[in-house]
Amino acid sequence: MDDRKFIEESEKHLLHVYNRFPVVFDHGEGMYLYDVCGKAYLDFAAGIGVSAFGYGDSEYEEALCTQVKKLMHVSNLYYHTGLSEAAEAVCRVSGMDKVFFTNSGAEAIEGALKTAKKYGYVRDGHAGHEIIAMNHSFHGRTVGALSVTGNEHYREPFAPLMGGVRFADFNDLSSVESQINDKTIAIILEPVQGEGGITPATEEFLSGIEILCEENGLLLIFDEIQCGMGRTGNMFVWQEYNIRPDILTTAKALGGGVPVGAFAITDKVARASMVPGDHGTTYGGNPFVLAGVKASIDIMEKRHIPEHVRELAPYLEQTLDGFVRDFEFVEGRRGMGFMQGLILSEKIPVGDVVSRALDYGLIVLSAGGNVLRLLPPLIAEKRDIDAMREILEDVLRSFAGVNTH
Ligand SMILES: *Cc1c(COP(=O)(O)O)cnc(C)c1O
Repeated sequence: MDDRKFIEESEKHLLHVYNRFPVVFDHGEGMYLYDVCGKAYLDFAAGIGVSAFGYGDSEYEEALCTQVKKLMHVSNLYYHTGLSEAAEAVCRVSGMDKVFFTNSGAEAIEGALKTAKKYGYVRDGHAGHEIIAMNHSFHGRTVGALSVTGNEHYREPFAPLMGGVRFADFNDLSSVESQINDKTIAIILEPVQGEGGITPATEEFLSGIEILCEENGLLLIFDEIQCGMGRTGNMFVWQEYNIRPDILTTAKALGGGVPVGAFAITDKVARASMVPGDHGTTYGGNPFVLAGVKASIDIMEKRHIPEHVRELAPYLEQTLDGFVRDFEFVEGRRGMGFMQGLILSEKIPVGDVVSRALDYGLIVLSAGGNVLRLLPPLIAEKRDIDAMREILEDVLRSFAGVNTH
């Protein structure tokens, strides 16, 4: 099919909330996506951190196909054969005790917020608790998740949102401390901010937050929807610092491509918060998506994916640091593992770079603050990083102001 036609036909019926790039993908293989015209694109975005194993992984696909033929869906009113294994696997790799499966990241956040509120309600005998969230955070598009998202542009038209949220500056402990009062029940943050601009929390900030939570009886909520599941070279980022949250959210790579998320909590929280009737979902954690979760975790463990990321991250970082050295408009690099951002000067709009990269056959993303974001599939090898460098070098060179040596 002619791609122009496909785009026009799609726009006729789709609600226009995305300015989509003019490309129509048809299939994928390994690290590459192919459009309807057969052009190959090296994928350094992984469907925004979802497709951890790239495309066409036979073990992953077989697990899903087997499940499709066996059983797609039963209600959460019943058990099914894949339920216990998937729940055990998520708790084991996340270091948490109890899990609730959702259909998306935003829903995992909703569950985390409700759990924190219920915990406060049980403990104090009343509602009306407050939550501290971070500026430049991103937690999703539902009303609850937007309420803790520190981006005015996303929030403004939808006010009033959920009340009782105060914002503090990320990596600024005194800013967080100044927002704590008698009503505060929880602090929510991304250990590595994603949409906000690929900003890792400093170790001092996280350990300071942990102490603030202890001293004030607050729950610590880590949103690891983007940074978790192997992306930083740890199964979850909290394990890097050994700062365990009370509530952890995951999604994106959790199912390797099937729509699934989860919030997982400690026994301490589980014993004193949600009870039957407090929460539910029709699809969440159905047999089909949990086959994806189980296969993803099996593959991560069997193939030592986090270790692979840890091993190759320095090579990716050196490659990106080369761009910082060679192009004056590339002002810096931030990130952890396979979650990396190049900070571009205001002179070069990141959207233009992302568009041109696509023309040149490389898929990358943008993030807040004019950051070029790279989230390759976790199976990326040295040769893929080299291939990315070759294309991105051409792209950046086309934006003038070059001083190569
Ligand atoms: C993507 C993302 C979400 C929202 O996930 P959806 O599946 O799009 O609802 C929440 N938090 C973080 C950190 C994310 O990156």
